[in-house]
Amino acid sequence: MPVSWLVFHLTDRCQLSCRHCLRDPGRAAVDLPIPLLEKVLDEAVRLHRTRHVAFTGGEPTLHPRFADAVDAVARRGLDWHFVTSGRGFARVAALLEADPRRREGLTAVDLSLDGADQATHEAIRGEGSWKDAMQAVVACEARAWPFSLQMTVHAQNAHQIEPFALLAAQLGAGRVSFGMTQPTGTDFDARLQLPMAGWRDARERIRRVQELLRIPVVAHEGFQLDQPFHVCEPFRSELLHVDPHGRLTLCCQHSGVPGGEEDVVADLATTGDPGLEADRFLHVLAGTGSVACTGITCLNAGAILYVAGRAGDLATGARRSRELVRSGAAFATLCRWVRTQADADGRSLERLRERARRLGLEDKVPL
Ligand code: SF4
Repeated sequence: MPVSWLVFHLTDRCQLSCRHCLRDPGRAAVDLPIPLLEKVLDEAVRLHRTRHVAFTGGEPTLHPRFADAVDAVARRGLDWHFVTSGRGFARVAALLEADPRRREGLTAVDLSLDGADQATHEAIRGEGSWKDAMQAVVACEARAWPFSLQMTVHAQNAHQIEPFALLAAQLGAGRVSFGMTQPTGTDFDARLQLPMAGWRDARERIRRVQELLRIPVVAHEGFQLDQPFHVCEPFRSELLHVDPHGRLTLCCQHSGVPGGEEDVVADLATTGDPGLEADRFLHVLAGTGSVACTGITCLNAGAILYVAGRAGDLATGARRSRELVRSGAAFATLCRWVRTQADADGRSLERLRERARRLGLEDKVPL
């Protein structure tokens, strides 16, 4: 069976701080490496006949190489859409206008709007975010670019499902969609989550709106359905989701995020590319690497500590390695080693700093 579409969680970067956001603000933002994106695209086309790509995030347009990501999709003749809050859309529009091939396969600019009015939307997404989204709507309309609106439903906006769908139709959206808010692990959860009856009611009202409007009205995976056994798109293998670390995850709804890693099924970042491997290693030493990579590194380092007589057993060695990563001592040791052992031309630390800066880890490298 073909994989209809591939979702790339392109970056964790974002300018907003929405109440229902699943990003972990305590972690440095991670960007999906473009060579890895290209590799996954080639494999998906070859093995799964994939024809559609979605970019999400974070705010995917903030990926430092967003234009390269778009070009990678365009070069392969694939259809694509991207999710955006609309902030900074003038820059994105200029990027899309710079090369007509970038727009050829563009099926939708999917704008996140969390209310049918400014007050409701901005109570969730922050001041100025309504104007950003509306300006993006106008920019799309002016250029005849297809756009859609999507709402993440929760206790603070569920009452606006019907007016939101009507607003989307009035504005000229090609589609309106509703997603369920996932638990964020923050204090906001108590105010955002609906009781089971509330979710059922929301789903039923979306169903009625589907009957009334001519534009497609979509309820994303997660809402309760009146059927005994439901197999979602990812489980039918019709949709694959890749996170910014290059990991294939089972859930398209960021289940288990932040914190959990239980949905990770494969690490696609094992590429053999020395540059990418170096980036991955720096993330591991900085404590921002994937759980899988950090785990295997600490296991190996633990064995070294054990053999060197600095840990009584392997488990203690692995635990100590994790502490070294967590405390910053591991990264500091790398910097010391670079300065004293591998600095033949006197510029090694500078090169390390440059690489760390690209990864958002510059504060780890001493001046
Ligand atoms: S726009 Fe998305 S990624 Fe950014 S803060 Fe809001 S929910 Fe989070």
